[in-house]
Amino acid sequence: MSQAPTDETTLEHYPWIVARFRCTRCRRYGDSRLARLAEKFGATETIAALISRFHATCPNRPRSRSGRIVLTNDRCGGYCPDLGATKPPDLPPAVGGLSLIEGGKADMLPAEPGQKPRHRRVGGGDE
Ligand SMILES: [Zn+2]
Repeated sequence: MSQAPTDETTLEHYPWIVARFRCTRCRRYGDSRLARLAEKFGATETIAALISRFHATCPNRPRSRSGRIVLTNDRCGGYCPDLGATKPPDLPPAVGGLSLIEGGKADMLPAEPGQKPRHRRVGGGDE
């Protein structure tokens, strides 16, 4: 039985192998193996603290950049999408969720990652 983690959960007690971080404002995201996080920050680091670290490096955090003022108080929307969930993030929704899909087994795909990484680049800087 997994216990749903909260932002007060320490790495030591985080139930899953991978801690995921997402941002609602920028496109940045991070998936980190728990062992690596614990090694880097210590086993008593909380998810909240990690989210703060994530915020600190957000490209959207308020500051004036190249003459353009970013919206005030437009803070990083970084969060951990797995807080409060009792299912490991490794499982795709079709497996972890309760929804039944019309067609059943015939529609099931072979074991495939839930999400494919996106490589789309938006904005300049590419070549
Ligand atoms: Zn952000």
